Amino acid sequence: MEIDSTLELVINVYKKLECNISKFRNLVKRPLTLSEKILAGHLENIPEKPPQEGKDYVFLRPDRVALQDVTGQMVLLQFMQAGLKQTVLPTTVHCDHLIRAQVEGEVDMKISLSENNEVFRFLESACSKYGIGFWRPGAGIIHQVVLENYAFPGGLMIGTDSHTPNAGGLGMIAIGVGGIDAAETMAGLPWELLYPKRIGVYITGKLNGWTAPKDIILYVAGQLTVSGGTNAIIEYFGPGASSISCTGKATITNMGAEIGATCSIFSYDERMEKYLKTTNREKIAEIANKYRELLVPDPEIEQNPEKYFDKIIRIDLSTLEPYVVGPHTPDLARPISRLADDVKKNSYLDKISVALIGSCTNSSYEDMSRAASVAQQAAAKGLKSKVPLLVTPGSEQIRATIERDGQIDSLKAIGATVLANACGPCIGQWSRPELKKGEPNTIVTSFNRNFPGRNDGKRETMNFIGSPELVIALALGGSLSFNPLKDSLDAPSGKFKLEPPEIAPDVPSKGFYNARNGYVPPSQNLESVQVIIDKESNRLQKLEPFSKWDGKDLEKLVVIAKTKGKCTTDHISPAGAWLTYRGHLDKISDNLLLGAVNAFNDEVGKGKNILNNKIEPFPQIARRYKQNEIRWAIVGGDNYGEGSSREHAAMTPRYLGCAAVIAKSLARIHETNLKKQGILALTFANPKDYDKIEESDKISIVGLASLEQGKPVKCIIYHQDGKEEILLNHSYNKSQIEWFRAGAALNVLRTRVK
Ligand code: SF4
Repeated sequence: MEIDSTLELVINVYKKLECNISKFRNLVKRPLTLSEKILAGHLENIPEKPPQEGKDYVFLRPDRVALQDVTGQMVLLQFMQAGLKQTVLPTTVHCDHLIRAQVEGEVDMKISLSENNEVFRFLESACSKYGIGFWRPGAGIIHQVVLENYAFPGGLMIGTDSHTPNAGGLGMIAIGVGGIDAAETMAGLPWELLYPKRIGVYITGKLNGWTAPKDIILYVAGQLTVSGGTNAIIEYFGPGASSISCTGKATITNMGAEIGATCSIFSYDERMEKYLKTTNREKIAEIANKYRELLVPDPEIEQNPEKYFDKIIRIDLSTLEPYVVGPHTPDLARPISRLADDVKKNSYLDKISVALIGSCTNSSYEDMSRAASVAQQAAAKGLKSKVPLLVTPGSEQIRATIERDGQIDSLKAIGATVLANACGPCIGQWSRPELKKGEPNTIVTSFNRNFPGRNDGKRETMNFIGSPELVIALALGGSLSFNPLKDSLDAPSGKFKLEPPEIAPDVPSKGFYNARNGYVPPSQNLESVQVIIDKESNRLQKLEPFSKWDGKDLEKLVVIAKTKGKCTTDHISPAGAWLTYRGHLDKISDNLLLGAVNAFNDEVGKGKNILNNKIEPFPQIARRYKQNEIRWAIVGGDNYGEGSSREHAAMTPRYLGCAAVIAKSLARIHETNLKKQGILALTFANPKDYDKIEESDKISIVGLASLEQGKPVKCIIYHQDGKEEILLNHSYNKSQIEWFRAGAALNVLRTRVK
């Protein structure tokens, strides 16, 4: 099978879009937004009634799948269980998350290759055997490589990484999913999606001065908050959209993950055409031009957006200021002009310890050129960065291009260190031996995510996010309260004020450096390839199926944890050093809930073991309960499981005996992951019932034999001094109830493939 998005594939997609869009328009009897068109064009079947947003599930046929090296391990292990000879649609694996950041690119790459050798060998052999394209370590970060090679306007892609929506910058609906979703789709099953609501961002004006595409999404994050995009697709359009480069659009859609959006998308325009042509996809640009009307909203949408979206945000780029968000959450947003006051008011540590630019979110040619433009001004005055400055190129293609064109030299001239083309400090693979344990410190990054512990595994690190050009300016100033729009810098040659970065080209005038040598196509003779897994490995473990539901109600579950405050998948299954064990379910289960704050005792990662009444780490307790066949539940707060699509956050509790998660509300991807692994995913019908759960309580969930779509389930809380009944809601549909009964979605898949 061809791994590329070939012209033939794209034409077939557009033909189906054309046919389905006209049927769907007849069904809903109104003009369509862009996301509606693309979703309609990928429906398995046109439904009889218009799907209700946020209520109905639809079955879709994606065009591609993208996997990264950490989540991809479990996808391939699961796919192997399905018993198929090869994947049924183009799929790629990208080795990026396992690469550490410690010294600099080449040194770190050598160490990482040796540390992760068996995982990379497993991934490469499994790709070769199952007809999957493999991108070696060093080739680049998944989303950047996908944008450069595979994304195309009007397509539908799923990926096992929450920033998969990056491809929305090229007009693609690209959605982060759990591993089992990917494995099923690769095996040929349709992919199921809760039909999303729509949020429109209407853009006027033009970016200017210091303001960058990043500031658009930082502003939107401040408006919508971390859960404001839940179950919604965010569509950006309006006359100002074409003032944003294709890669700038990708920065914006990438970070839509931070506000919980299903995905984000821009309409096809001449900036995307330019990017396609410069990345050797002229023919795809030509065909997209031909089918342009399928790749933009109907004209009525822009004329009267309020009528067609659940919510509209209007942004005038001409007046938008540069933004900085953080610490610890992407919706704590303020313009740079208010940051100094915020620092004082909240006693943030003003002094910056490290500045970082790049990542999959912000390492385009335009980003690096603008960052270099600021660096050049400082270098011309003999000024260096006041703090260590780390640069992460998104791919070898971009790294080699900016090396050739001088941006890397400009950044090095102010003291920058260039790291490997990989995730490194963005995913907790950043080693900072110079920091004392528990030492508070401030960092600024142009990355996308800033949960506590995200970058260096240290919860004390306060991480602020801004555009690459602003991060460079802050690195030169050395403190958060430095505002490059009004403050001066002290250089050896005297005081001076930075000028706004020069307007940078979207793409290099000499074209991109061609860096396909990091790509390995699958074998021509799939059956001859052996997948390499060492039986003694502590990195990889073949999966055993979870047992099926025994048909009985869940009686008197122990509450192992009641999480308090933000509980992301990073808190449930932390990253950092644990990334090592993503292919070994037993080993990684030792990180269960280690980042979660327990409302019963305010401890992080610990709770009471009812077998000895001692406070112990959650994984230790869960293993004891498993040995003693005690089933247990987790109680969660709002948006439990937000953040990355990490399916381990559902697999490890399941493996250690969790029967149910009951929360005030559940984050979309995590909710599906829980269902797929056979854990009952429930929400309090009355969120205040969360307060009723006490540490010594037991919980029964009854009437499960008649679990039905749209019908709440009964829950009995046994307190020490009595019991009470409450109702729990769920969002299971018929096929999801089948997953619960079979013990896991994979168990259903295996029987279907046979
Ligand atoms: S967001 Fe960070 S960790 Fe995720 S793919 Fe991008 S660079 Fe890697």
